[in-house]
Amino acid sequence: MNKIIILPSEISQKIAAGEVVERPASVIKELVENSLDAGASEVKVEILDGGKKLIRVTDNGQGMSREDAQLCFARHSTSKISREEDLFQISTLGFRGEALPSISAVSRVTLKTSDGKEEKGTQVDREGEVLLNLSDVAFPRGTSVEVRDLFFNLPARRKFLRSDKSELSLIVKYLTFVALSCPEVRFSVAHGKREILNCPPVGSLRERIFQLFGKSLLETLMEVDYEENARRINGFSSRPPSGKLDKALQYFFVNKRPVKDRILQVALNQAYRGFLEKDTFPEAFLFLSIPYSDVDVNVHPAKAEVRFRDSQSVFHLILRSIERSMLEESKIKEIYLIHDKEKTGYKIEEASQAQLFRTPSEGKLDWKEVSFPSTTGERSSPRVLGQYLDTYVIAESPDGLLIIDQHNAHERILFERYREINDKKSWPQKMALIPILFELSPSQVLNLENNQTLLEEAGFRVEAMGGRSYALKEFPDIFRTEEANEIFLALLEEIEINKIQDKKRSLLATLACKTAIKAGQPLSLEKMEYLVEELFKIPDSSLCPHGRPVVVKIDKAQIEKGMKRS
Ligand code: ADP
Ligand code: MG
Repeated sequence: MNKIIILPSEISQKIAAGEVVERPASVIKELVENSLDAGASEVKVEILDGGKKLIRVTDNGQGMSREDAQLCFARHSTSKISREEDLFQISTLGFRGEALPSISAVSRVTLKTSDGKEEKGTQVDREGEVLLNLSDVAFPRGTSVEVRDLFFNLPARRKFLRSDKSELSLIVKYLTFVALSCPEVRFSVAHGKREILNCPPVGSLRERIFQLFGKSLLETLMEVDYEENARRINGFSSRPPSGKLDKALQYFFVNKRPVKDRILQVALNQAYRGFLEKDTFPEAFLFLSIPYSDVDVNVHPAKAEVRFRDSQSVFHLILRSIERSMLEESKIKEIYLIHDKEKTGYKIEEASQAQLFRTPSEGKLDWKEVSFPSTTGERSSPRVLGQYLDTYVIAESPDGLLIIDQHNAHERILFERYREINDKKSWPQKMALIPILFELSPSQVLNLENNQTLLEEAGFRVEAMGGRSYALKEFPDIFRTEEANEIFLALLEEIEINKIQDKKRSLLATLACKTAIKAGQPLSLEKMEYLVEELFKIPDSSLCPHGRPVVVKIDKAQIEKGMKRS
């Protein structure tokens, strides 16, 4: 008997849809891409219940004729490519002709469109695979696609969706990304009655960054513009030595397409190695323009990744473009310093370009008094022998040598302490004398709202000041005023990516990490002794809160064997 059947289209469509449509944010991504491909100068996104109940994307692009409005729901229907060769010259965001059929296979869809040529616009209503209605509608030139009850016919998928708030925050993250890619397009986003984003068209990336992230971020950036062999990189990235405590603000675009790409990320981080304050990461808004034939966007059904024909050269292009901009910046800086010198007599001639940027080894986050009360009394912990590479504490125990990672160890100690304080709900707080003002991006605003209680429990109290401005009024007294804001923002990013039940733990782990002594910092004997003593008070202290080892032990027996003594 035959075992093989050909799946009915109802099932195969749902399988295919699963590759493109994972969650509300992926529906929005596809619809907004279509609007941009249609040349829209305005894109309006409306959402209900985190996009689970309703998503409506309306644009003023070129619209569709009656025939196209019907055809667009067929699998592999596209106006963007027609020949195999076109696959290697893709200049549009879409090209696979899969989005609309996929979306409509798993939701209730209403499409309204008009190309402005025919007298009447067209309305199409569908439910899953079924066409419910095709009719005239009065509609201005452009298109509106309404997607209701996502996954209504795929309950298993629906269950995988996160809370409305989390879905909304993913949507806003994506829309922020895409809004950066085309400053000339107006973007507005509303969740129910609440306006989340409204960016009127502007003439430059700089202005769009200002709209989305505010003035303070712009001030930390330098301009990047570099061209070589018909390949260009332009945009903005961190002006050394200021970096961010997290990697959330690294945006890359390849031929205007927002992409997530490892090669670009690694190149960026490498370009900044040694130029940023310790444990901080560069921010980047970088546009790479390369010949279409040098990049394959047909790697993934959701087109989130790209493949470069020559990734090596792309890597070097990023390195060089950042180096160039740093050099330019350092020249500017030098002028300031020379100016200062005239006033102060301070000599800078010997300082090399690079040194101008490098931060002193003390690092920014220093030992906190709270971490080091003076140690008295008997010591039963291993005896400290010294420090290696300014990174490891070497100690002696009865049965071997201990190599202790100073950062991981301190992190673990602080984590335990913070956990204790947190359990008692008694974070010693510090009031900011002058409230620390900062501006949040739309997705950070949502994130703050979703986690406010948790952050307050950890000692951070924030007040809304209107618009997307906030003031940090209180923070844990283990921080200096200058660093409180930055740590708060890093926490905000950190807790967002974690599941609800892990949030508190991850928040405390981040606090511990950010306040712990760094690698590469010379320590006095007393500090090392304190560190070792505290560490060995903790039962099972072999891992840091992020799961990295704290201690490596070399057994006495192993040493003796090596020395051929046993
Ligand atoms: P693709 O974008 O890969 O071509 P889609 O399924 O997303 O595939 O869309 C199919 C076709 O429908 C597009 O090629 C385009 O011609 C048309 N279309 C979809 N959305 C719009 C829109 N907002 N405005 C104009 N045409 C659209
Ligand atoms: Mg498309």
